[in-house]
Amino acid sequence: MSKVHPESVDFHAVGVSSDSELNPFRIVQRQVDEAAQHLKLDPGIHELLRWPLREIHVSLPVRMDDGSTRVFQGFRVQYNDARGPSKGGIRFHPEETIDDVRALAAWMTWKCALVDIPLGGGKGGIICDPRTLSSGELERLARAYIRQIGHNIGLIKDVPAPDVNTNAQIMAWMVDEFAFMHGYNEFGVITGKPIALGGSLGREDATGRGLMLTVREAAKKLNLDLKGARMVVQGFGNVGSWAAVLLQDLGCKLVGVADVSGAWANPNGIDASALQAYVKEKKVAAGFAGLGNPVGSEEILELPCEILAPAALHNQIRKDNVARIKPRILAEGANGPTTPDADPILHQNGVYVIPDFLCNAGGVTVSYFEMVQNTYNFYWDLPTVHERLEQKMVAAFNAVHDMSQKYNAHKRLAAYLVAINRVAEAMRLRGWA
Ligand code: NAD
Repeated sequence: MSKVHPESVDFHAVGVSSDSELNPFRIVQRQVDEAAQHLKLDPGIHELLRWPLREIHVSLPVRMDDGSTRVFQGFRVQYNDARGPSKGGIRFHPEETIDDVRALAAWMTWKCALVDIPLGGGKGGIICDPRTLSSGELERLARAYIRQIGHNIGLIKDVPAPDVNTNAQIMAWMVDEFAFMHGYNEFGVITGKPIALGGSLGREDATGRGLMLTVREAAKKLNLDLKGARMVVQGFGNVGSWAAVLLQDLGCKLVGVADVSGAWANPNGIDASALQAYVKEKKVAAGFAGLGNPVGSEEILELPCEILAPAALHNQIRKDNVARIKPRILAEGANGPTTPDADPILHQNGVYVIPDFLCNAGGVTVSYFEMVQNTYNFYWDLPTVHERLEQKMVAAFNAVHDMSQKYNAHKRLAAYLVAINRVAEAMRLRGWA
């Protein structure tokens, strides 16, 4: 099989206790409370939004290559499906916790509502270190997981996808196991599949493309000419590299880049397409000619630029460094790159923040397109995927922009208000409170 997705940079709270301020699920509940106050939500709806509707805890026996049996623990959380089937990835991570999975499932609920796709939010996780597992062991683990949760997922119930340390091959094994359990192929039960098994065209660059589209819209609001606009990108993997290439196509100049191998500044511009081709082959940016001068890993965020796109790690923009971070547009490709106490300061400083669950929603939007294509078993060409993605991203961007004007709220709060209001409306209409 191909190598597992090397990303281990997602928002997870390694080792935090359940009552910690940094516990991601506590953060979710505080965010819901704040939105409920602004939207004057009915107390019943508010309380229901603070908790997952459903969660499954599973034990997974796996026959290891040495003949022994190891039991892994896994979860699937269906946070809220008022607007449609749950949607969200499956993570393989040694420090996975149920509170991480709950929080990520809640964020998927808001993200799907924000881009107005008819889906709820879910997330799954297995506590394991995939680097220590052989290909055969990974396959048996993936299949064991589906045997446990396979009656609770499906195209009209809950649709998983790849996430941290999982990839298209793992999804293919899962789809196959699901087909054997049910006696028929239902490719739409999982997205992020290989193209040969019902994957969608346009998924690879979807998140970077969504980022580019939201930056383009923000630039219009700011009357910022993107021709010659300087951009800095932290993280040059799937999201960061596609964002840089597509923004370069609009005329932006890549003046700073960072990845796990270092950080560089080059006021003359770095060729994003050539760097992407280099990283595809070498896995890291180090060694590419034309990177410019090395800079510190913190300094990269402080370089003068019009567009800053953190696309690697969480908690990068914090109270202690936010005063020095002054792009015109902050495009959050990564999940959770800005801490809550830095948000109001960015707002005061006039930075146009495109919050993560808007900025990186292109991926889930094309995953939804994949489900739609699987459902009617007819596949779109690439221009159709691009056009429909653009419609969704632009509409979501405008909804957040307008909400932020209406409440004079910073953009992240505005995005929560749009999303939570939509979920609450569906719950009200269904008579849940
Ligand atoms: P990736 O693994 O393809 O790339 C991650 C990049 O971050 C790599 O270039 C890596 O070298 C770099 N990196 C790692 N440690 C670093 C460090 N200390 N300093 C600077 N760079 C560092 O991952 P990705 O799929 O591009 O995802 C990036 C972020 O976007 C994650 O937060 C992910 O959760 C989020 N995201 C991704 C998608 C998607 O569709 N891929 C969708 C939504 C959100």
